[in-house]
Amino acid sequence: MSMIYEEAAKTHLEALELKTACTCLDQISQQAAAEQWSYSHFLGYLLEKEVSTRHRKRVEMARSMARFPYLKTLDDYDFQAQPTVDERLMDELATGRYLSEGRCVVLLGPPGVGKTHLAIGLGLALTDTGRRVIFTSAVDLVRKLTKAVHENRLHRVMSHLIYPTLLIIDEVGYLQLEPEEASLLFQVICKRYDKQQSIILTSNKPFSQWGDVFANDPVMASAALDRLLHRSTVINIKGESYRLKEKRLAGCSSLINQNGEPVN
Ligand code: ADP
Ligand code: MG
Repeated sequence: MSMIYEEAAKTHLEALELKTACTCLDQISQQAAAEQWSYSHFLGYLLEKEVSTRHRKRVEMARSMARFPYLKTLDDYDFQAQPTVDERLMDELATGRYLSEGRCVVLLGPPGVGKTHLAIGLGLALTDTGRRVIFTSAVDLVRKLTKAVHENRLHRVMSHLIYPTLLIIDEVGYLQLEPEEASLLFQVICKRYDKQQSIILTSNKPFSQWGDVFANDPVMASAALDRLLHRSTVINIKGESYRLKEKRLAGCSSLINQNGEPVN
């Protein structure tokens, strides 16, 4: 490459915002000359670097914005150990097709059976294609919204929760909500429903006890369930905690019973 075109190439790559291609140009040009690549091989290689770097950055950004509490994929989930979860159904959900119709996914079951793990796995399947996901526990969600109410910026915070492709609300029902908190959670569910935006929700409480979750307001609970379940996939996970089961199988059976409770 003559000097004048070499400089022009860099300027144009920069003008086209092909940053990685610009940075790698010298090194790839030298490699192309040394290995006698064809022109199209050189161009393809340079653009491949640009596109793959962009994709990696988009995924990193989507993952970090999602604020997952930990990273575990569906591949990390031991479906053999948990026969009440249908692996094919999870694979289907991982395609993200449910999003197009604003379908919700509700994961129910006792502690330790992998509800949070599966919700994160489904979230990661989306962030790995660069889509916007937000993960939050129900308690953090209502605390954030309550604070926003007091600071007079509910509208702004609410729109951040409505806009992403997927909102994951974890641990609904672990703590009973105050009336104002229940109403804020209800608003999030309604607004996403109205915009046909999906929610993945996990809970240790069966639907029959959701009145308690929503500050002892069965009317609000049933209105929330109406929206969540209108278009939904409900996965009811049964059985004992995965970790406690592992411990039991590893020989601590004299210490822990089938319900995961210590025994004398
Ligand atoms: P839950 O949200 O239902 O209380 P978690 O998703 O927090 O349960 O799971 C607790 C721990 O056990 C996590 O580390 C999770 O990865 C692991 N776990 C639970 N079930 C399985 C499973 N079937 N295969 C692999 N790991 C599991
Ligand atoms: Mg959990």
